Amino acid sequence: MSQTIEERLYTIRYKADDKSHLIITDHNVCENCRDKPCNHFCPSDVYLWHDVERMTSVAYENCIECGTCRLACPYYNIEWVYPKGGYGITYRYG
Ligand code: SF4
Ligand code: SF4
Repeated sequence: MSQTIEERLYTIRYKADDKSHLIITDHNVCENCRDKPCNHFCPSDVYLWHDVERMTSVAYENCIECGTCRLACPYYNIEWVYPKGGYGITYRYG
């Protein structure tokens, strides 16, 4: 039987750095980004637009390093690098 995405994500271990490896380059660009697709395409719900603060928050600790946001932000407004050595995700097999 195939696993759900939640079951698959459960097999991942995170070690979060104290500094984000994902940076929103310009929050003003997000303001004018109509559909804010990052709020939907990220499988780990890293990005969330806040209407009151007028900004996109980045829960980088949850990132599974799939790389989607590098390409899928229509304004290339997300700076993406791999986490520093020793941080980020490891996959558990079996
Ligand atoms: S998709 Fe890009 S520009 Fe649009 S809200 Fe997200 S980070 Fe900002
Ligand atoms: S690399 Fe993937 S999991 Fe990480 S923030 Fe981007 S879309 Fe989300």
